[in-house]
Amino acid sequence: MSQPVSAIHFHNTESNRKEPFQPLEPGKVRMYTCGPTVYNYAHIGNYRAYLFEDLLRRYLKYRGFQVNHIMNITDVEDKIIRESGAKNVSIFEYVKPFIQAFFEDLDVLNVERAEHYPHATDFIPQMTEIIRVLRDKGYTYERNGSIYFKISQFEKYGRLSGVKPDGVMSGARVDSDEYEKEDARDFVLWKARKEGEHFWTTEFGEGRPGWHIECSAMSMHYLGEQLDIHCGGEDNIFPHHENEIAQSEAMTGKPFVRYWLHCRHLLVNGEKMSKSKGNFFTLRDLLVQGHHPMAIRYFIVASHYRSPINLSEEALKGAHSAWSRIMDFRNRMKETIEGGENGVFSQPLEAELQTCMNRFEERMDDDLDSPRAAAAVFDFIREANKIFDDAPIAKEQAQKVLEAMNRIDSVFGVAREDEAVLNEDIDRMIQERQEARKRKDFAAADAIRDRLTGMGIILEDTREGVRWKRR
Ligand code: AMP
Ligand code: ZN
Repeated sequence: MSQPVSAIHFHNTESNRKEPFQPLEPGKVRMYTCGPTVYNYAHIGNYRAYLFEDLLRRYLKYRGFQVNHIMNITDVEDKIIRESGAKNVSIFEYVKPFIQAFFEDLDVLNVERAEHYPHATDFIPQMTEIIRVLRDKGYTYERNGSIYFKISQFEKYGRLSGVKPDGVMSGARVDSDEYEKEDARDFVLWKARKEGEHFWTTEFGEGRPGWHIECSAMSMHYLGEQLDIHCGGEDNIFPHHENEIAQSEAMTGKPFVRYWLHCRHLLVNGEKMSKSKGNFFTLRDLLVQGHHPMAIRYFIVASHYRSPINLSEEALKGAHSAWSRIMDFRNRMKETIEGGENGVFSQPLEAELQTCMNRFEERMDDDLDSPRAAAAVFDFIREANKIFDDAPIAKEQAQKVLEAMNRIDSVFGVAREDEAVLNEDIDRMIQERQEARKRKDFAAADAIRDRLTGMGIILEDTREGVRWKRR
């Protein structure tokens, strides 16, 4: 049965073109997004990817699609093995606090939960099954107990990233999960056990999976052999997603993904924010500096996902004032609704609202053009404020406007007053304030108190010590 072409268009990394969005099954979207490798706290660059994906799933839902969204948790990988070994704890013990912090951060950033968050270590049998099929079809070979995928065997290798296996020395292999751009190599599916490393016993011997096979196994387990949308940050295009295509399609013989969407990086001083460069901030870092989580969210979701964005104090301040304008306007609507006298219905306001909604949808349909969608909202707020300044407006109309703003916010997700600051951060700041007082640095102590007040936290100095409560 043919379905109507949806108004939504996405830029597909694979074709490098905008294409009308049409899922395999009408009305339903099978979406997979690469999740965190929980070897440490995620940084705000990682959250750019997760916020873009959140905006995407929210808009698909706004447009009436039923979304089945899977995000994996990579809980076995080179760095996790190394760090847990250094700390002499099991990988499971090691990753626990980082998984917990990840979900706390998602809540602070008002990220909607995906339908499932599978852990890679729960999918060893499914990975083994894929490797077995690939072996039986002649796509793999073994060296020193590890199993590799022979990329020259997969004709379409390079279709996503443009990185071609031609010219690669036959049999050049790579064991590392992440490797340099442009360096096409036979990649590892199963890594032979090394002394002291966590391992599983399978028909391929003792060892552990490579990173790429994890995502093929988890996505196909939940969504079947063909996905509608697969996302990640641009650094995932090669080698990770290229290798996912090779493994999955070599196994099933079917196209793996219909639309590949990748966000550009979040930068600091023009460079990609990354753990390895050391130029990173976690969400907690930014909150402690006094940034409101909804300003951080606004900064990211109101930027186009296919433009690089530079994190700076000014950028966050600008986002804060834009976000405040939205909140002030919402409050004005609420005050009108709750106020004493009733005003009149304004035809011009009605027309402005209609224009705003049309422009919002038109811009979001066009490859999630959130900056222009936000501009439509601000144009509306400016005009509406003038109309409200001129004469009292009917409560029912203010209600209608507020409902429209809520509908838009079901996509942007920024209309939240509370800071959702984490208890442990509050405790840490109180501790820092006590230390500042002890060394008689009252300016520093007051600054911390002000920052807490700004976050809605009220301190009470009692004889027993400092108590705090949320406003
Ligand atoms: P990782 O934990 O390194 O696998 O990264 C998790 C997700 O964050 C992936 O989708 C990456 O592409 C994405 N990512 C990492 N660094 C950045 C950055 N600076 N800007 C945007 N996305 C990023
Ligand atoms: Zn992945």
